[in-house]
Amino acid sequence: MGEADPTAFFKTDVDDLKTKNLDWKIRELQGPSTPRAIVDGREVIVLCSNNYLGLSNHSRLKKAAIAAVKKYGAGSGSVRAIAGTMDLHNNLEKKIAEFKHCESSLYFQTGFAANAGVLAQLAGEGDLIISDELNHGSIIDGVRLTKAERKVYTHKNTAELKKLLEEAHGKYRRILIITDGVFSMDGDIAPLPEISKLAKQFNAITYVDDAHGEGVLGEGGRGAVNHFGLEGKIDIEMGTFSKAFGVVGGYVAGNKYLREWALNKSRSWLLSGSAPPAVVAACIAAIELLQEKPQIVKKLWRNTRYYKKALKKLGFDIGVSETPITPLMLGESKTAQDFAAELLKEGVFTIPIFFPMVAQGKARIRTMPTAAHNKEILDEAISKFEKVGKRLGVI
Ligand SMILES: *Cc1c(COP(=O)(O)O)cnc(C)c1O
Repeated sequence: MGEADPTAFFKTDVDDLKTKNLDWKIRELQGPSTPRAIVDGREVIVLCSNNYLGLSNHSRLKKAAIAAVKKYGAGSGSVRAIAGTMDLHNNLEKKIAEFKHCESSLYFQTGFAANAGVLAQLAGEGDLIISDELNHGSIIDGVRLTKAERKVYTHKNTAELKKLLEEAHGKYRRILIITDGVFSMDGDIAPLPEISKLAKQFNAITYVDDAHGEGVLGEGGRGAVNHFGLEGKIDIEMGTFSKAFGVVGGYVAGNKYLREWALNKSRSWLLSGSAPPAVVAACIAAIELLQEKPQIVKKLWRNTRYYKKALKKLGFDIGVSETPITPLMLGESKTAQDFAAELLKEGVFTIPIFFPMVAQGKARIRTMPTAAHNKEILDEAISKFEKVGKRLGVI
């Protein structure tokens, strides 16, 4: 009794993942996230950040953050609902609504917290949530927090979605359809026009997680809903500041009642400390920058087209992406791990993605050019891809 170590599974679990090549090897950046960065002590080309527009190290965001620290301090002092709402937080929410052409918005500490907090309240007992099979893990966790029934449709299959809606008709209090705007692992875009049409037909609520559409799609980076001309037709747009905006934080945006409803209901908002002033000020600066310089988004797309064309020409399978997310489909997790390790040795930082992030046998390295890369850096990276691809027999 009492002799076995009750935490022995810490080690055995990880050992098990290692033998299956399913463990994460965490790389360390010793400086800012820029196209060339110091990773594990060496300068390498970074092609796996979510820093689509290169804003994370932008002087304007840094200045805003520093000024906010001087004026407001390092922390907010409380949760938003008690004494942790500063004018900065409210200003940011106004900015988000303005940028998204929505009537109101609510800012959360992260996108994960927004999904977990809001989804858990949107549906409950007697309701139905219908979700695309490739939706992000934070949506899946948000849905798990509810007592609502859940149904999953095959990726982007609107015929199946329609069938589920027909079957559900009249049986539930509320029906909620949730989809990623841009799917984070494959980079393809959700069929929002069809989803929105079906939702209207069956009186369902629509929720679009646009973490990877924000700053990338639509007029001046307004996202997937704007891209399809569906503004005002999607009930809740959720987004993040941790990707194209280069900072951190999540939000939901929608009609004029959404903000007050969500802040009264969402436990992740009510019960968790609010974002520090520096973060909020940098988020405001990111939106303002994008409003003033929408051409950054065009640069991202120019780089994306150039980069993808070169990889395709070399014979790589770059999947079904319609956005800057560029997976190199490699099959087994070991191949993906080896590919990323070899690339890093050659001076290119990418990340292998494997089960459970993607299905078994669909391992890949997921790469991403940003607006901050230039042709010379991309050419150098592409030549390393060719070298490693040939060495490992992938191309
Ligand atoms: C990254 C991501 C999130 C989480 O956003 P954070 O702000 O980083 O917590 C949610 N949904 C999708 C689709 C994402 O890619």
